[in-house]
Amino acid sequence: MSLLLAMALAATEPVCTPDALGTFRTLILKREAAAWGKAQHAALPGLAPKEVVLTFDDGPRPESTPVVLKALADQCVKASFFMNGEPLRQHAALARQVRDAGHTVGMHGYRHEHFSQLSPAAQLADLEAMLATYRAALGAEPAAYRFPFLEETPTLAQALGERRMAVMSIDAGAEDWLPDQTPQMLGDKLLGELAKSGGGIILLHDAQDQTARALPFLLQSLKAKGYRVVHLTWQ
Ligand SMILES: [Zn+2]
Repeated sequence: MSLLLAMALAATEPVCTPDALGTFRTLILKREAAAWGKAQHAALPGLAPKEVVLTFDDGPRPESTPVVLKALADQCVKASFFMNGEPLRQHAALARQVRDAGHTVGMHGYRHEHFSQLSPAAQLADLEAMLATYRAALGAEPAAYRFPFLEETPTLAQALGERRMAVMSIDAGAEDWLPDQTPQMLGDKLLGELAKSGGGIILLHDAQDQTARALPFLLQSLKAKGYRVVHLTWQ
């Protein structure tokens, strides 16, 4: 390898040392009507015990998403980001930065609504706005959707299924939307939930400053406990 090429690679690719958590493997799912995550559905197929999928909701947010990206890059891990349509439209370049860093981007509602309180027509209009924004920003067709508040509705579940899009629930989280949580508090909660679930889909929020700040500690904690990160993608 030439020195110039090596320097160019070094500029874009973090050096993955043995100390880093690292991405253990990539799990490629079919594009199909499906619903995963033991909080509401079946376990994600093909995950072994102690394997985890990192997911981040509610971004992109310029104040915190880049901090999350840095922490993930430092530990050589790939994650999935479920973005809301409004910030995605406002910060499309940041969304592309997330994608270009090798992460998966899914949908999380154009607005962060309680869809069970909206009419079917309003729910479907939100999905259409989300889809249009995703396509405009990322030039691709999304494969997965996480309901805001994990509040699933029959109308949207059916509409997503007809589009062969997967509903992504969760297996473990850290309640990182609650205010004033230290990295230690978030880590204790996350490891406690993972100990119960045995691994699976982890819910965090890249729109939360406290989560962005805590992420280096959380990733180190996952490594210390022997969890392995699986990067989720769709065909
Ligand atoms: Zn959310």
